[in-house]
Amino acid sequence: MTKALVLFSGGQDSTTCLAWALARFDHVETIGFDYGQRHRIELDQRAKIREKIVALRPGWVARLGEDHLIDLAVLGQISATAMTRDVEIVMQENGLPNTFVPGRNLVFLTFAAAVAYRRGLTHIVGGMCETDFSGYPDCRDATIKAMQTALNLGMEKDFVLETPLMWLDKAQTWALAAELGGEPLVDLILEDTHTCYLGERGVRHEWGYGCGRCPACTLRAQGWAKYRAAAAA
Ligand code: ZN
Repeated sequence: MTKALVLFSGGQDSTTCLAWALARFDHVETIGFDYGQRHRIELDQRAKIREKIVALRPGWVARLGEDHLIDLAVLGQISATAMTRDVEIVMQENGLPNTFVPGRNLVFLTFAAAVAYRRGLTHIVGGMCETDFSGYPDCRDATIKAMQTALNLGMEKDFVLETPLMWLDKAQTWALAAELGGEPLVDLILEDTHTCYLGERGVRHEWGYGCGRCPACTLRAQGWAKYRAAAAA
């Protein structure tokens, strides 16, 4: 029996990862983190998406297990970024947008591994991607590989860190969703996942809800346009 834990934020990427895991593992649990994000919309969407996604394929409902929501308020307290403070999103001198929360994925993976250890889960699945991304260094493949080594040494385990989106661009991530769950999964991602940094859900664009201007919305909109163009060709 294969068992996985999916880092599930309620966004486009982690929802695609959840479908990927449900298609592959016998038992799948999810984990989310509340770190004082400036909006809680993503977290609110999680339960809704979990409920709807299992209806897409026979067998998925039996595979989906517990959800773990971890309070990491301390991460928001110690970091001054546009993700956790009400400040404008700008590009910084180091080439990273100020939405970068230093160490975030390292902390997430460490807590995920601690939960996986307790729950007997062997695979940890995350939506990190270094193809179309904002340049976050903790999304790089080398970072994830180093984390896997550190966690396995430090916990005396053989966890496998899976990043199915690592080498996909955003258009390919949409295509992967279509492959895993057909048009119904694409529709679910459009309607219910939340990516926008500002937490806007007022306007429904053809690529989903969001402000349409922040880096996350820009990536999502560009990926959708490219995916649709490829599908039409
Ligand atoms: Zn936005």
